[in-house]
Amino acid sequence: MTDDNCIFCKIANGVIPSTTLYEDEQFRVILDLGPASRGHALILPKQHFADVCDLDGEIAAKVLPLGAKIGAAMKKSLECSGFNLVQNNGESAGQTVFHFHMHIIPRYENGPSIVSWTPGTASPEELAQIAEKIKSSL
Ligand code: AMP
Ligand code: ZN
Repeated sequence: MTDDNCIFCKIANGVIPSTTLYEDEQFRVILDLGPASRGHALILPKQHFADVCDLDGEIAAKVLPLGAKIGAAMKKSLECSGFNLVQNNGESAGQTVFHFHMHIIPRYENGPSIVSWTPGTASPEELAQIAEKIKSSL
C-alpha cells in the first residue's frame, strides 16, 4: 500500500524522479538530496511503512542484505573505507520523513565525524533496572 501524501512513496514508485542506484519489485535505492557524505544513499521500500515498527517482516528481512550490497559497491566504486547503515525512528531520533528508510552513508579517511556520541556512564544496578523495564514490554 502507498500513501498519496507521502513523498517517499512517490519517489520509490517513480512518480517523482530521483537519482536511482538500484531498483527491484520491492525497493528503490536513491541518492540523498542532502548528503552527509559523498554517495549518501537511501533504501526506500515501494510500500508505505511509517517506521521500523510498522515494517512488514518479508521487507525487513531484505533491507540489511540490500544495505550490505550497496555499501560493498560504494567501497569498490567510491573508495570509501567504510559505511554506516543508519535508520531513524521517531522525531526525537531524527526522523523527518515518515516512510521507513535506511541511510547508507559512505565514510572516508579523515571524513567528518558523524553518527557518533559521547559515551555516558551507568551503574550495574541502573543497567539491570533498565533491562527489566524493557524486557517487561517485549
Ligand atoms: P530522516 O531524517 O532519517 O527522516 O532522513 C530523511 C532523509 O531524506 C534526509 O537525509 C534528507 O536529506 C532526505 N530527503 C528528503 N527529501 C528528499 C528527496 N526528495 N530526495 C532525496 N532525499 C531526500
Ligand atoms: Zn510512503
